[in-house]
Amino acid sequence: MPTEPRLPEIERGTEVFSVDPLTIRTHFEVDYLHSYKQDTPFFHGLAKGKLLGSHCPKCRYKFATPRVHCMYCGGPTQWFELPTEGRIHSWTVCYFAAQEFLKEVPFTLVLVEFKGVDTLFLSRLVGVERRDIKIGMKVKARFRRKATWTVRDVYFVRPKRDAD
Ligand SMILES: [Zn+2]
Repeated sequence: MPTEPRLPEIERGTEVFSVDPLTIRTHFEVDYLHSYKQDTPFFHGLAKGKLLGSHCPKCRYKFATPRVHCMYCGGPTQWFELPTEGRIHSWTVCYFAAQEFLKEVPFTLVLVEFKGVDTLFLSRLVGVERRDIKIGMKVKARFRRKATWTVRDVYFVRPKRDAD
């Protein structure tokens, strides 16, 4: 009597994080080529220790997080160099993150405001205890010596000479 074909059983186990809804661990990994296109000068700037924003020559609006086109008039913007010192507008501590950053939690994110610039810049704050972080506190940009060509090439610290 012929037997029905069968796939072999899988012997390894699977972690179940939740039964309903069923939640399991699945490994996911992908490489892809990511072009920064018009944002390329921003990343070149980071590699040179410079923060580049953009401004609209028509509206005079200044973007700390650069935009190629003005969000008000739609016109093309121009690059300009941001100061490397700003102040904390807001902050949060992240206890969970995307897979790539999970091993780094908890970490602190800050929204940095620069004098004369109309939008904020999101970055990491490093080396400051949570109890010492204050809204309005001065922070200074630091740049990785070896560029990763990502926004992680810049982070902020408390300037040594600043006590408030
Ligand atoms: Zn504009």
